Amino acid sequence: MDRMKVRVRFAPSPTGLLHIGGARTALFNWLYARHTGGAFILRVEDTDTARNTQEATDVILSGLRWLGLDWDEGPGRGDFGPYFQSQRGKIYQRRVQELKAKGLAYDCEGAVKFKMERHPIVIPDLVVGRVTRELTDREAADPDFVIVRSDGQPVFHFVNVVDDLEMNITHVIRGEDHLSNTAKHIALFRAFGVEPPQYAHIPLILNPDGAKMSKRDRGASLQNYVDEGYVPEAVVNYLCLLGWSPKENREKISLPEVIPLFDLPQILRHNARFDLAKLEWLNGEYLRELSAARFRELGAAALRRAGCKMDAYPDNYITAALATCQGKIKRFSDLAAYAGFYFQDEVKIDPAAAEKEFTPEAKARLQKLREALAQLEDFTAAGIERTLKAAAEELGVKAGVLVHPTRLACTGAAVGPSLYHLMEIVGKEAILKRLDAQIVAG
Ligand code: GLU
Repeated sequence: MDRMKVRVRFAPSPTGLLHIGGARTALFNWLYARHTGGAFILRVEDTDTARNTQEATDVILSGLRWLGLDWDEGPGRGDFGPYFQSQRGKIYQRRVQELKAKGLAYDCEGAVKFKMERHPIVIPDLVVGRVTRELTDREAADPDFVIVRSDGQPVFHFVNVVDDLEMNITHVIRGEDHLSNTAKHIALFRAFGVEPPQYAHIPLILNPDGAKMSKRDRGASLQNYVDEGYVPEAVVNYLCLLGWSPKENREKISLPEVIPLFDLPQILRHNARFDLAKLEWLNGEYLRELSAARFRELGAAALRRAGCKMDAYPDNYITAALATCQGKIKRFSDLAAYAGFYFQDEVKIDPAAAEKEFTPEAKARLQKLREALAQLEDFTAAGIERTLKAAAEELGVKAGVLVHPTRLACTGAAVGPSLYHLMEIVGKEAILKRLDAQIVAG
């Protein structure tokens, strides 16, 4: 194999959420792979069988897919698998034997311990710089550490290194919280007679108040942004800025534009602050500029998540319906309230609003409009508008007097897409049904 080819990996432990920090680590690895023409590998570190469920793994896989971070090797593809640590037990056993045979590991009270190097270890980190790790006083007395517990489970340091070695990883890009483990990892690589990979420890993500972002913080889980209907491109753009920056203080930048610019030495050394206001601003920018096709795709997905039975509607109906919403919503999670009426057989109307709007006089007027619409052959926005205005004139009222109850009957809401257009899309038959439901009700 080509020894120069960059091979990086994202190695999450599935705990049930994809943390924003983890998503950023995945992104930086992905960017480095794409920048160098290397390979991005996804390895699932699921050795904690009590916590690591299939659902927890799915959260990570679907989060990466949502962000658009495709992996070259990982679950489902690649020649260095399996890519789940839970399936690599034999490899670890073989590697433990190898260290024992070299006299670098030994049994101790049922566990297996590694003979750690007895001198300071230098970590040449591409982001942090050169770090020398001295032995602590406690370690100086006995620096050896357990690599296989007495229950037979190999520990994180060991499996992490064995996999990086077996998978020919060239660069380890991960959170700075792992810097303190790296001396152990380097010593293990050397024990196997292999040159350690290059390290790049990326700074932590802090809350706006400067505290370390924890799992419990609002906004710490990527799923939060999926559920709230953010545009993935906006979230990815924002994650790029957490510890990296294009020149000239540019903030809105697309992933394809970042790839040629991204490099490890430019990763900022200071901790990054999570700024929800900036993310929201970026989201608004992306939402406004989405192509109609992408708006339709993301919009349909959001409506499906909100429980709309999208599969019951033809493609061109969905496309037309969503086209009336672009530019009108701030987040896709607003869409169900704004346009859910397109995808319901019967609209739900707030009883208080219905009582106020559907007075006996209003019903009589709606009846007139209904009759006129039933006669209308050309059920287009223009035809509907003409008909409504003519009906209003005949009734001696302003168009607005007809518009409000009509909108409420057709959509169940007081605000929404352009009335004549939405009526055309919902279609004559369904509109007459919706008007009838209110004319006869009460
Ligand atoms: N499973 C470890 C974690 O999620 C991986 C650390 C590493 O990237 O080496 O923190």
